[in-house]
Amino acid sequence: MKVFKFGGASVKDAKGVRNVIDVLQKVGDSNIVIIVSAMGKMTNAFERVVDDYLNKSEELKNSIDFIKKYHIEILEDLFENRQHPVFKKINSIISDMETTLKRNKSRQYDYVYDQIVCYGELISTAIVSEYLSKEGYVNSLLDARNIIKTDDDYRDATVDWETTQQYIDKKVNKKGLTITQGFIASDANNFTTTLGREGSDYTAGIFAYCTNASSVTIWKDVPGVLNGDPRVFENTKLLSQISYEEAIELAFYGASVIHPKTLQPLQRKEIPLYVKSFLNPQDEGTSVKKGQRLVPQMPCFIVKKDQILLSLSSLDFSFIVEDNISEIFSLFHTYHLKVDLIQNSAISFSVCLDDKFDNFKKLLMQLKPKFSVVYEKNVSLFTIRHFNKEAILFLEENKDILLKQGTKETYQMVAKQ
Ligand code: ASP
Repeated sequence: MKVFKFGGASVKDAKGVRNVIDVLQKVGDSNIVIIVSAMGKMTNAFERVVDDYLNKSEELKNSIDFIKKYHIEILEDLFENRQHPVFKKINSIISDMETTLKRNKSRQYDYVYDQIVCYGELISTAIVSEYLSKEGYVNSLLDARNIIKTDDDYRDATVDWETTQQYIDKKVNKKGLTITQGFIASDANNFTTTLGREGSDYTAGIFAYCTNASSVTIWKDVPGVLNGDPRVFENTKLLSQISYEEAIELAFYGASVIHPKTLQPLQRKEIPLYVKSFLNPQDEGTSVKKGQRLVPQMPCFIVKKDQILLSLSSLDFSFIVEDNISEIFSLFHTYHLKVDLIQNSAISFSVCLDDKFDNFKKLLMQLKPKFSVVYEKNVSLFTIRHFNKEAILFLEENKDILLKQGTKETYQMVAKQ
């Protein structure tokens, strides 16, 4: 069995949905599980719904209308017959969301977020499944929330592998064509959870691991994994092969083509991962598998924007050592702050943080009584894997550098945006 993943960019419009068929025609359509993300930038649109709802903003209706309109336009393009049941189906999914909002009593942001943002994937998979059926591709649509079970750490849930494995064994038909949602899951009480932004790749990894799939393919709007984000760097080149270890490193430093958690389950069973262009499905793309670290060998550039550089020093010039470092890290953990870089000296300690959950203020309140705190928001973290002199010179040009550090294979630098 193979697992395919189509991300938001690949199903952002009717053309993208039609292209799913083009891919299936070229590479085969049986024994496949297709994981689909929300269309285009719809997850951001659902995030706005959550914000408007919790802030009691008058914009709420507009935000919901925007989502309705976006999907209806795609439907009207894909289904000439306005009597097709898909129109009712999508309307009823959206009214289901409105009912969820009406009935909800919780003010807890992360919980409400997951109950609402999941509708992006529920809608996209319903559309893709119906369209494939219309075009003669018999498929079954599975609700991923009945299969992937997690804890109740909303917006960043941890998978319960044992239960998930049982559900996958019971409910996933390894023959034929199955469509399901990326990113969404559910907890023991059947409330919806999500696996973190861009989490659909991870869903593909989970399905592949639990079904012993022969491969995972992520269909992208780029030819594969490049040695830098083409939106940021010029003259990027395609990497044809990457080892699991190297891919995990690249993803960890922020290479956005692969979600960092995706690779671990695949590595454990040595399931190859292909990143390919959905426009040219027969091209080789990039394969991530056991073997050579990086082919061709060249510097890889990664940038993570909107980071926070935080420096702490002791108030009394005492050392920053094990006991206070462990306390600081436990606070990062509590507030879901992801640490991308660490540098410390005897009396000071600097980290580059990713504040995905908007908790930095709360962290500061805890740190300020104990440390002298200096921070700079909106900085970028640049990483070069397999650097050389020219690569560093290129990266440092015209930048206001706040911190740098290097190991044998990795050079990192924090600079103002
Ligand atoms: N739709 C989700 C997001 O935009 C998950 C994904 O696309 O991977 O983050």
